[in-house]
Amino acid sequence: MKLRTKAFIFLGPLFLVIILAVAFYAQYIVGAVFKKQTIDHFRSIAEQTESAYFAFVENMKTRALDWASDSTLRNLSKGILDTPRGSFERARLEKEFAAYVSEKKMPFDKTIFLTDLLDHEGTVIASTDPKRIGHDEGSQEFSRKSHNFTKTINSTFGEAFTKGIVTEAYESPSPVIRATARIAVPDKDGVFQPIDAVLLIHFSNMEKIAAVLRGGGLQEGRQTSESFIRNSQTSDIYLVNSEKFLVTPSRSIKDVKVNQKIDTLPVRECFERGLEVSDEYENYQGTRVLGASMCLQDDGLVLIVEIDKDEVYAPMTSFVRRTAIGGVGAIFLGFLLVALFVRRPIDNLNDVVLAAERAAKGDLGTLIEVRTKDEIGYLASVLNSMITSIRNSQEELQASKENIEIKAHILEEDLKEHEKQQQFLMQSKKATLNLLEDSWNVGEKLQAESNKLQTIISSIGDGLILIDGGYKIVLLNPRAVEMFAMPRQDVIGKDLREVMKLWKKKKDEILPAQWPIEEMFLTKSVVTTTLEDELSLTTVWREKQIPVVLSVSPLGGGIPGGVIVIHDVTADRELYDAKSGFISVASHQLRTPLTSIRWYSEMLLSNDVGPLNEAQKDFMIEVHDGAERLYRTVDLLLGISRIESGKIKAEKVPIDLGAFTGEIVKELSSQIDEKKIVLSVFPPEGGPVVVPLDSLTLRQVVLNLLSNAIRYTNEDNGIIEVRWNTDEAGKEVKYSVRDNGIGIPEAQRSRIFSKFFRAENALAHVPDGSGLGLALVKELVESWGGKVWFETEERKGSTFFFTVPLV
Ligand code: ADP
Repeated sequence: MKLRTKAFIFLGPLFLVIILAVAFYAQYIVGAVFKKQTIDHFRSIAEQTESAYFAFVENMKTRALDWASDSTLRNLSKGILDTPRGSFERARLEKEFAAYVSEKKMPFDKTIFLTDLLDHEGTVIASTDPKRIGHDEGSQEFSRKSHNFTKTINSTFGEAFTKGIVTEAYESPSPVIRATARIAVPDKDGVFQPIDAVLLIHFSNMEKIAAVLRGGGLQEGRQTSESFIRNSQTSDIYLVNSEKFLVTPSRSIKDVKVNQKIDTLPVRECFERGLEVSDEYENYQGTRVLGASMCLQDDGLVLIVEIDKDEVYAPMTSFVRRTAIGGVGAIFLGFLLVALFVRRPIDNLNDVVLAAERAAKGDLGTLIEVRTKDEIGYLASVLNSMITSIRNSQEELQASKENIEIKAHILEEDLKEHEKQQQFLMQSKKATLNLLEDSWNVGEKLQAESNKLQTIISSIGDGLILIDGGYKIVLLNPRAVEMFAMPRQDVIGKDLREVMKLWKKKKDEILPAQWPIEEMFLTKSVVTTTLEDELSLTTVWREKQIPVVLSVSPLGGGIPGGVIVIHDVTADRELYDAKSGFISVASHQLRTPLTSIRWYSEMLLSNDVGPLNEAQKDFMIEVHDGAERLYRTVDLLLGISRIESGKIKAEKVPIDLGAFTGEIVKELSSQIDEKKIVLSVFPPEGGPVVVPLDSLTLRQVVLNLLSNAIRYTNEDNGIIEVRWNTDEAGKEVKYSVRDNGIGIPEAQRSRIFSKFFRAENALAHVPDGSGLGLALVKELVESWGGKVWFETEERKGSTFFFTVPLV
């Protein structure tokens, strides 16, 4: 539950309880006090009023005494008493009495409506109303309690009496009060002696009494009742006689003639038990009133002072009402204040609570707006700084978590790398083993290739080096270590390019970019050099060159790197050199006798020494052809040995390739025509190309390539195309001879440039061949710094290329 709701729920009932408590207090506690005070007040008013009433009654008595001592009245009274009843004198005196009182006395007091003169029995002997003469007023004293006749007739001079107020419709419609006084007459001494005559004065002065009761007279102390009457609307003071009739007008009953019966609590209490009442009760109109009564038993009267309870309680009721309204107002005001003043802090507190909830759920994104400068504002700013510091530490945590994750990632990567390396090593190991096997195979092949050197080669172990993709030496065998002439641990991890150098023909250094290893990396295939490549190596620890044949194989499984098998061909090279020397000597030695054989066989065939029979001629032709073939072979061998021994002195002249090619084609035209081959020459468009070469050397090269193309092309449908052109940079010329002949089987392509090597299909197609032509071509092309190579597909044809550098 929200704090605001709690505040409302708590404050609402609290206010309500306070209001109820105040109302209860006002109603019952204050009410009781109020009631008591009011009643006490009434009591004193009643007492004052009672005395006012008595004072007024005294006034009437004084009037009676005054009249009783009036000389005319007393003389008339004495005269009436002394005159016999029924006499004229008596009648005259009676009339005089009536006239005197009516005219001389009663006009001064309008409330006196009748005056009687009674004899000692109480019988009316004179009256302002002559009809009353003879009326027995004495019995009235007891039956009606209307006057104090007995007391009066027995009283001495100077005493007067009154009795209660009675309602006597036959005398007066309004209640009547009677005063009696005994008439006294002065004797000869001047002393007043009472006579048997009583003056009975009838007052009907209820209005006046009422006025007196209500403070109308100016007697002392009357202000209280007057203000009591004046200041309240329902207050009343009235008299009720023993017959329980209202005898003075009340606020609601102005006319007392209506004979209103008043049978209320104070009336009953007074006349039945002689008690006075100060209490709350129901008045004659059925209204709840607060009142006090004075019981005037002698006068047969009860004086009642009363007021509506509602009026007494009105201020209090209004106070309670005001309090209630005020309370409700206060509640609203309270809520308003809460809304106005407490809402902001509570809202702020709500913000704080919400922010705390959010923070608890992990949302530290927003800070609380500090709206107030009180404790809640302070709390908000404290929570803000808490959130900020949590956020900071979370960020730090996050950062360190990320850091840890990065480190973990790095570790993972390292682990992966490690695993990769391990895998790589395993694979390398496997590959090495495989390649070791391969190397032996290669070694075997090399052995097969150089039969004569087989024993020596097989007895020598090959050097073996494993490198990664960056030429870093990963592994090498003892033979390689031996070749490198350094301890194994110094080589491992070194860049091969930094520790090894390769040389061609002992004098030309081959830069790493031209190494067969680079070719292996590019083509991802095995690259093998041959003895004819005349490679040798040195290392940083060994200056002496070792002639070598290399077999470089890429590592399988996509692992960068390769295995280099170094075959020490020192012995092979020596043998090769020896062979070359032998060939040179042999060919020289063979050349002279062969010339003789050719010459003499030609002479014999041309019948220079006499005719030959057919059989002799046939044999001679065979001799001559064999000698020719042998001569050509020897010629080739001599060519090669000359180059190898560096005996050829090339004389470079500018040669126009177009004219040059045309001449050679012309030379070969008979063979071309014989096989019905279509030979086309495609000179480049940009005009003649001139190369600076020795013409004999170039002739050997082009002639060999063209004659091979013719020889290894099938009859009837042969096509040969010759092309040459200069490269864009103008640095070299590329020359090519293309045929659609038998092609070269894949397995034998690597050995095509080896001396005496002939491919199997060539052996079958052209049995007559030496396998020396291309060896010579290679030697010649390389002698001028060019390159030679071929592209071929078995049964589809071959293209042989060579280049001539122009600079
Ligand atoms: P020969 O031609 O006398 O055998 P070469 O040295 O000229 O010797 O050639 C060596 C080998 O190269 C040939 O035996 C043949 O197997 C192959 N060869 C050369 N030229 C061609 C070619 N144009 N077409 C197919 N094979 C060829």
